Amino acid sequence: MRLILLGPPGAGKGTQARRLEDLHGLKQLSTGDMLRAEIASGSDLGKKVEAILAAGELVSDDIMVEMIAHRIAKPDCEKGFILDGFPRTVAQAEALDDMLANHKLDLDAVIEIKVDEQELFDRIQKRAEEDGTRADDTVEVMKNRMDVYKNQTAPIIPYYEGKGMLKTVDGMQSIDDVAAQIDSILL
Ligand code: ADP
Repeated sequence: MRLILLGPPGAGKGTQARRLEDLHGLKQLSTGDMLRAEIASGSDLGKKVEAILAAGELVSDDIMVEMIAHRIAKPDCEKGFILDGFPRTVAQAEALDDMLANHKLDLDAVIEIKVDEQELFDRIQKRAEEDGTRADDTVEVMKNRMDVYKNQTAPIIPYYEGKGMLKTVDGMQSIDDVAAQIDSILL
């Protein structure tokens, strides 16, 4: 099974992706986690993207497409994967289509987790207070990440809608309820 989880920052993509990973033996591919690992390792790529993440801007499509193309070809993705944080632009979505076609693979579903903006701010603020380890979990950067989502990422929703692949779940419900909605889509 190959899935995309889509939604604004704080929508709960990571939480749901980790559950699906355990439940279906899929590999969660979180581009945010991959980028943070590059930064932590001090690699050249990490140095290049650190300020971009801290500001809540997007890393270039070229870098992200290469990162995912490399990743989905690894053996641990053979049983399937959940993309969490990719694609984030229409150009990335188009590149993903090419990539999958080259490997003769299909997507099973694109699941959008919908959450109100005010709720997202409350969640991120809480995460910043409790955790405080992510440089982009501040109210200022959060505002920018929301704008970036609206301007650059939200256009991929009609892109997948047009292909008849989009499924939407109500992300304002509890974690278990959101999980149940996702499960009923994947039945
Ligand atoms: P969240 O899940 O909270 O929205 P992520 O952990 O997925 O955030 O991503 C954190 C940051 O990593 C983003 O704000 C962006 O700077 C960068 N990033 C992650 N994925 C992509 C992508 N596909 N394209 C460009 N930048 C990305």
